[in-house]
This record gives sequence, C-alpha cells and structure tokens, in this order.
Amino acid sequence: MGFLNSLKSLFAGSGGADTAGYWIYVRCHRCGEVIATRLDLRSSLSERDEGGYVVHKTLIGNQFCFQRIEVTLNFDQNRRLLDREISHGEFVSKEEYEAAQARNRQT
Ligand SMILES: [Zn+2]
Repeated sequence: MGFLNSLKSLFAGSGGADTAGYWIYVRCHRCGEVIATRLDLRSSLSERDEGGYVVHKTLIGNQFCFQRIEVTLNFDQNRRLLDREISHGEFVSKEEYEAAQARNRQT
C-alpha cells in the first residue's frame, strides 16, 4: 500500500501542465554558448527573510569551457519573478536560445 501511494504521488507530480517549471536561458560571456535550465519552483525556492523566495543556480555549459555562470532569481510570495542577477553571462530569450540551437545543428 505504501508503495502504491508513493507511485501515485510520483505520477501526480509529473503529469499535466508544467506549472512548477521555470526555464531560464543564459549566454556564457566567455564562449558564447547558450545554456537552458529548468528550475522547479516547488523544490528549488528558498524563503527569504524579507518575504518571497530566492533561487541560486550555477550553470556550466557542455562545451570545453568551464566558466561557472551564477544566477540569482528573486520571486514574490506568488512566485512571480521580481528581479534577477547573473554573473559571467547574460540572460537571453527562449527565441534566442532556439536560434542558437538551430545554428549548432547546421555546423
Ligand atoms: Zn562558456
């Protein structure tokens, strides 16, 4: 019975719309690689003392560049983005990410 329950919660967590997922796209300042990562807003958020939530994430690209890109995102109590910071890279849009992926496939 315990096994079935845990199985159920597993499916409940993964099915349907990905409302807890928050994608960010960044470009590495050193090599120009565009990296995408998904944050789980249910599990990666830390509560801030002053209210709302914060997420820290370190991204490293797949190419031969070991630049660590540090990202900090601040959310309000309703998990809406308030502001974001990045070091060693810059935020790009989903469209720019997809364009970079398309370029990679052509070469
Ligand atoms: Zn890089």
